[in-house]
Amino acid sequence: MEPVTIRNSILTHEHVLVDFIGAAGVSRSRYDLEEALAAARPKVEAVKKYGCRRILECTPAYIGRDPRLLLRLQEATGVELWTNTGLYAAANHKFLPEYVKTETSLALAKRWVAEWRDGVEGMKPKFIKIGVNLAPLHEWDRKVVEAGAIASLETGLTVACHTSGGGEAAMETMEILTRRRLPLSKYVWVHAQNEMKNEYFEQAARAGAWVSFDGLSEKSDGRHWQAYFWMLNAGLLPRMLLSHDSGWFRVGEPGGGQFNGFTYAFEKFLPRVPAEFRELLMVTNPRRAFGD
Ligand SMILES: [Zn+2]
Repeated sequence: MEPVTIRNSILTHEHVLVDFIGAAGVSRSRYDLEEALAAARPKVEAVKKYGCRRILECTPAYIGRDPRLLLRLQEATGVELWTNTGLYAAANHKFLPEYVKTETSLALAKRWVAEWRDGVEGMKPKFIKIGVNLAPLHEWDRKVVEAGAIASLETGLTVACHTSGGGEAAMETMEILTRRRLPLSKYVWVHAQNEMKNEYFEQAARAGAWVSFDGLSEKSDGRHWQAYFWMLNAGLLPRMLLSHDSGWFRVGEPGGGQFNGFTYAFEKFLPRVPAEFRELLMVTNPRRAFGD
């Protein structure tokens, strides 16, 4: 099957660099910017040739967010890189800075609004990326979600929330956002492919949320194909997002380890999808979900 080119397509969930050392140990001194740039550049160029114009880089602060790197990569490739504000409470709070434990959700939101207003190292965050653990959500998870709602209402940025394993956490997240009066059209349920009960997709999508099947790879192809068909048959494709959650320069590994690419969708998955739906999944929906 021939790869497909989709002009102005957008990958809504990828990573350029990640450092899993944890908030206590994370540091720019742990990697070389030029080395990371050299590793990432060909991967971004490879997807540019399929029409990709924008990649949302979903690595939050304290796990390796590096707007300096994204700016350089953007200049080098001509593909837009978006960075985020927010915090990742998943992985049992390993990536949370200490201040989360004592500050209110309003105080956290103020930090994120300030980043949006002033930019971070020369780059304005264009979405809010947070992460939560399994349901029932821990106090710190809930705090981060509440901060997401407050910051979204203030900035208009969409909240993409990592869910560790599924629907229950997504539903609880949606309840919190709704209580804070955030329209669910501003919420992206990240890693929905890990949930096996399709009813949750339906519940989220019908409530107006975005359902993101973002771990697309050769290994997950069957799961993604099944999810795509289910969404199609339920009439819910207009609420679906598709991406790879791929990459990245692995801080701490020699040469950044294995940097996986962002081309599978264009080379293997989307050629099987009718052109109108390709456009919907890769251009229209990303723009509706995250703005332009
Ligand atoms: Zn991710």
